[in-house]
Amino acid sequence: MVFEGKYFHFEYDEADREVAGGMISTAEDTYEEVAARFQIAVMNDRFTFQICPDTATFIRAAGKTAETWQPWMVGSADYARRFVCVLSPRVVSDRSLADMLKIVKHEVTHIVFDSLGDPDAACIGISEGIAVWTAGQIEPDFLQVNEAPSMIKLNDEDYFYENSGYQYSGVYAGYFLEKFGMEAFKKVYAGMARLDEYLYNGFEAEAIMKAKNICSINA
Ligand SMILES: [Zn+2]
Repeated sequence: MVFEGKYFHFEYDEADREVAGGMISTAEDTYEEVAARFQIAVMNDRFTFQICPDTATFIRAAGKTAETWQPWMVGSADYARRFVCVLSPRVVSDRSLADMLKIVKHEVTHIVFDSLGDPDAACIGISEGIAVWTAGQIEPDFLQVNEAPSMIKLNDEDYFYENSGYQYSGVYAGYFLEKFGMEAFKKVYAGMARLDEYLYNGFEAEAIMKAKNICSINA
């Protein structure tokens, strides 16, 4: 089945008719909200958004293979291919529908931000950070101040995956926006400014304490 939104051309299986409505409105609303909030121009051509009815379809659509796919991978965005795919909440057993709608928000945020520059040039810690933060996927209880990974190092892919990069980059992106504003964040995203022009010793710990809503004993 297909549905033409304002920003996306949706494709989904008959079996997903019930879950499609929420995913469609979340994708459309998120695109508009994120573009407006960050003052990023909207695209005239629609992106394709596929709701995948099963894992095999998702793996193919996301350009993965059975070897490179992992069960936590349930959404994918590819700005160059103008394509987003998300696994149907109907077939994801370990996440709620609300969690899957956050995945939709996350992937759509990637699409909006990747129009800022060369999408392949955006560093992983910056690009995932803004997607996690915008989608509201941060779990403050999970964060440890004394294990805070470096925001700069999170842009190295191995370091990112070894250090719970999604959670920490999301917290850092949110705190960076609060401290330095959206224009600074967009410049860093597009590779027009360097993170180390802004960061300072203790930034990461401050960001985590803020997210956990606790005060430093030294403050
Ligand atoms: Zn992502």
